[in-house]
Amino acid sequence: SVPAAILSALAAAARGGVLFKGGAALETLAKVETFAFDKTGTLTTGQQELVEIHATCDEADFLARLAGLEAHSEHPIAAAIRRAAEARGIAPVAVREARAVPGEGMVGVDETGVIWAGNLRLATRMGAKAEADAASQVPEGLHAAPRTLVLLGRGAQLLGVAGFEDRPRASTPHGLGALRAGGVGEILMLTGDRRAVAEQVGAELRIAPAAIHADLRPEDKLRLVGELAGKGRVAFVGDGVNDAAALARADVGIAMGAAGSEVALQAADVALLSEDIGRLAEAHRLARRTATIIR
Ligand code: ADP
Ligand code: MG
Repeated sequence: SVPAAILSALAAAARGGVLFKGGAALETLAKVETFAFDKTGTLTTGQQELVEIHATCDEADFLARLAGLEAHSEHPIAAAIRRAAEARGIAPVAVREARAVPGEGMVGVDETGVIWAGNLRLATRMGAKAEADAASQVPEGLHAAPRTLVLLGRGAQLLGVAGFEDRPRASTPHGLGALRAGGVGEILMLTGDRRAVAEQVGAELRIAPAAIHADLRPEDKLRLVGELAGKGRVAFVGDGVNDAAALARADVGIAMGAAGSEVALQAADVALLSEDIGRLAEAHRLARRTATIIR
């Protein structure tokens, strides 16, 4: 049977918006020394903002195709794209046979043929070049800028690039501070986004470049969490479909909030109802206190 101290800790955590799937998860969390965090939608709001477009076609046409493709995606950046199109009064183009390439983007078919939208890895896979030059409209220095880039293309032809900004949640600096104050060994960032963006967010959150792993595919996140788990107890905190494998692999998988994906929630051992990392820090403390009581 579950000790009373654990039951009462589970209830207290639930009141704080931290739902453990069982007593074992609480006991393991007490032993966690390394916390690895996904970036987009976990440390940051996930409400990216469109700040620039460089297109070889008309900007409205570019956004209409991009939004048409992203109408079929549940990725946070897709919502940002749909919002940007709507704010400009641009109706999405109809796209069929749309499918997600996890950690890369979307592919589908519009009236002109196969179109795709995603990161540099997807562009390369489609045979498109995204180098800075007049033909591509990609400006010098764009790839080094701290922006999430979404490239749109038709076959091997690049139609343009959109740049987005991702901001830390207002509660994240304090939340990470509380975790550190509670005596956590290491805090890492594991992201599918580009290093330039990850380091910019990291700088605001006091996560050093050496603790940041960027440009990760879902399988890379899984592998890294596995490596960390070989050295000590590791918790992984994430929100996306791309985080599911890493959440399942971690000693404690923690899914973010109501805005997180269903797949992430299912793979996790703990659900954070609030998106405040501070709540996780409180649960970590509570788990440690409980461990000293029942020992
Ligand atoms: P993260 O680890 O930051 O949550 P993901 O693994 O979900 O990121 O995605 C990695 C990158 O792939 C994103 O930063 C984005 O550039 C690209 N990407 C993923 N899904 C989409 C999409 N639906 N549309 C455009 N780009 C996408
Ligand atoms: Mg995410």
